[in-house]
Amino acid sequence: EAKAAGVNGYRVFDDLMEERMSSRVSIRSELARALDTDELTLNYQPLVCAKTGELISVEALLRWNSPRLGQVSPAVLIPIAEESGQIIHLSNWVLDTGLAAIKTLGDVPVGINISPVHFRHSQFATILAEKLIAANVRPELLHLEITEGVLISHMEGAKKTIAQVRKLGCKVYLDDFGTGYSSLSYLQDFELDGMKIDKSFLRDLGERSQATQIMRSVVDLGHSLGLKVVVEGVESEWQARLLQLLNCDILQGFHFATPMVLADIAAFRKLHTAKAETSADLGSAER
Ligand code: C2E
Ligand code: MG
Ligand code: MG
Ligand code: MG
Repeated sequence: EAKAAGVNGYRVFDDLMEERMSSRVSIRSELARALDTDELTLNYQPLVCAKTGELISVEALLRWNSPRLGQVSPAVLIPIAEESGQIIHLSNWVLDTGLAAIKTLGDVPVGINISPVHFRHSQFATILAEKLIAANVRPELLHLEITEGVLISHMEGAKKTIAQVRKLGCKVYLDDFGTGYSSLSYLQDFELDGMKIDKSFLRDLGERSQATQIMRSVVDLGHSLGLKVVVEGVESEWQARLLQLLNCDILQGFHFATPMVLADIAAFRKLHTAKAETSADLGSAER
């Protein structure tokens, strides 16, 4: 086994590289098949109002249960698909499936993660417009989540595409805010509807006063630019309460709910509407 034989650093490195390469290749070939079968699914994670705990929207998250590879995380799969070019096919499947979910849910907005590779496609907005018409859903129920990767080195194209999809009526959120390089200038240059503050900002929250001050400043910054401010990765009651005090609009995280199958969203919604009516505090998910 590679690790047991690992007295020589170079050999371990080579073996790991090789292992990585071959899993990359098998992910590619397995994915090609998966796109034509039902191995891919979307799970949906609730986003709730920071003040009332009510369901605001859901985020669609890709799940792949491969018979040969097991569960493959989107964090592993997406970069490989981006490199191989399979992302366009995959991303169109995600969009179609997400649009069908909007139809099923009725009036709950659905957030969909869009790969920079797909978003940069010259026909992105045109094809999206066709899909919206075909699916017959209200565009404002589609929330596109893009990352800084979209904006870097494709400033003008990205600006144009953001304007086009917003003109269609869709909302655009900047995802993973604070994990990249020049987030602040992007906020100024691009017309967005909201920002999702990355979960890494929660790490020292409540422990170091600086972390709380930074969170407060970022939230205020978002608001001063007219953005809805979402915080992701909320895992505890006290984090939720602190974020509410800091004026965050929307919270997402395991404290409220983990990603679930579409059919379970209706029950979550019922529970959370009732809770919001009977108590003024944050409705946390009893799991
Ligand atoms: P993301 O868009 O930032 O999605 C949020 C991730 O945080 C999800 O991981 C979610 O399961 C996880 N999460 C939610 N609440 C908590 C929490 O309280 N604590 C912790 N530790 N994690 C939490 P997931 O599903 O593994 O997805 C990882 C990333 O993969 C996503 O990050 C997104 O960048 C990408 N991704 C997922 N689905 C898609 C897709 O359909 N298309 C594209 N292009 N990317 C996707
Ligand atoms: Mg996201
Ligand atoms: Mg994120
Ligand atoms: Mg992320």
